[in-house]
Amino acid sequence: MCGVFGVYGHSEAAKLTYLGLHALQHRGQESAGIISTDGKRLYAHREMGLVQDAFSPADLAGLPGSASIGHVRYSTAGGSHLRNAQPLAVDYARGSIAIAHNGNLTNAEELREKLEARGSIFQSNGDTEVIIHLLAMSTQRAIEDRIADALSQVKGAYSLVFLTEELLIAVRDPMGIRPLVLGKLPGADAPNVVASESVAFDLIDAKAVREVAPGEMVVIDRNGLRASLPLAAAERKSCVFESIYFARPDSKMSGATVYEVRKNLGRKLADEQPTPCDIVIPVPDSGVPAAMGYAERARVPFELGLIRSHYVGRTFIEPEQSIRHFGVKLKLNPVSDTLRGKRVVVIDDSIVRGTTSRKIVKMVRDAGATEVHMRISSPPIRWPCYYGIDTPTRSELVASSHTIEEIGRYITADSLGYLSQEGMLRAVTETRGFDRTSSEFCHACFSGEYPIEVATPSKTRQLPLLLV
Ligand code: 5GP
Ligand code: SF4
Ligand code: MG
Repeated sequence: MCGVFGVYGHSEAAKLTYLGLHALQHRGQESAGIISTDGKRLYAHREMGLVQDAFSPADLAGLPGSASIGHVRYSTAGGSHLRNAQPLAVDYARGSIAIAHNGNLTNAEELREKLEARGSIFQSNGDTEVIIHLLAMSTQRAIEDRIADALSQVKGAYSLVFLTEELLIAVRDPMGIRPLVLGKLPGADAPNVVASESVAFDLIDAKAVREVAPGEMVVIDRNGLRASLPLAAAERKSCVFESIYFARPDSKMSGATVYEVRKNLGRKLADEQPTPCDIVIPVPDSGVPAAMGYAERARVPFELGLIRSHYVGRTFIEPEQSIRHFGVKLKLNPVSDTLRGKRVVVIDDSIVRGTTSRKIVKMVRDAGATEVHMRISSPPIRWPCYYGIDTPTRSELVASSHTIEEIGRYITADSLGYLSQEGMLRAVTETRGFDRTSSEFCHACFSGEYPIEVATPSKTRQLPLLLV
């Protein structure tokens, strides 16, 4: 998971990119980078860490020009290194080009082996660099055609922004797996900003115009905007997990606010998995909207029974004498007076490994709850994602090898209930304003129905976790 942003034709392009990345911070906290151009050359700055720490005023002053792209990268199991930070940039025979990528290519390993056999030297170990080598090698002349040529050889999920000295290009994979939206700054004649999510526009007063369509290439230069569909058409399969967990609740996706979608998931969950209870509490922050929907439908009070600290950084000092559940306690603390003597329904958006849920159930019970019922606003995650979400390998996904009853016992809940796949798809598509049908979603991590073929696990040994 990552976030991308691009702007063309603004005197403070790099600063707007900085703000855009700040709004997309939830999509990746490992590294941040911006590349700008003044029409003569590209300027780059990348650093590990959060956006506000990665750029000083001097760093931003070193990014001149009126066009710029940026990237925030998600922390992954391996590959946490500055050389994997994006945007990547190269000089090739006809100029310079920078690229920022959200997604994951499913045939990157195979292409990389071929390219290396032909003499390409890779600087990063992510999959994005494959695209750079392919376009540098293309026999096409125009950069648009080189990009189309390169992308016709890759498979997988990609929302991409490119920057050259003259133009900004945005491309989305033919299935539209990862999001990408177009916006317009005040006073601009045509759309001139692009971002993973519409929240990035809110902060810079840009107006969301439309999505970049699956398979679409949008070129923005001094003549305005040109759109084309250079890639082979495919059925739309947008990631449903964006609406469940990844996207910010105040983003608009497919016509509806993600917050409203999540509340609706909670309502459906209450319909499908009711249980007698006194209060409904969320696991903050990700479980909040679904818990509100659940409480509304169940006609039970919504309470904040767990308070989250927003100041948990990456490194912290643990006492030598071990404190029970230290990691979770650092982030969440129960409100005992609210929980004591109550039958509590705890709502979260998903269970991955189950270790957090187990600690939360224990925490709520220790705070005095008489019953703890866990309810999850999505189906069991049984399959790894190969399209740019950093899910663990299959064996680490608790639901891949355990029944719901077994997971319930493991997390020590009095009961555990998940939303069904039908319920999830209905909740998403029935939200007011939502304009997708249920067949237009990828739900492979729940169903195992992968819309793009993935290589056998042995071949993709390092790939599933190594997303860029
Ligand atoms: P678990 O009980 O599986 O240990 O943790 C579940 C929690 O992980 C949920 O609160 C959910 O919001 C969160 N979660 C789901 N997917 C991801 C992910 O890809 N990355 C991170 N950091 N958290 C996730
Ligand atoms: Fe999204 Fe899951 Fe599909 Fe990955 S497998 S793209 S997380 S729905
Ligand atoms: Mg969570």
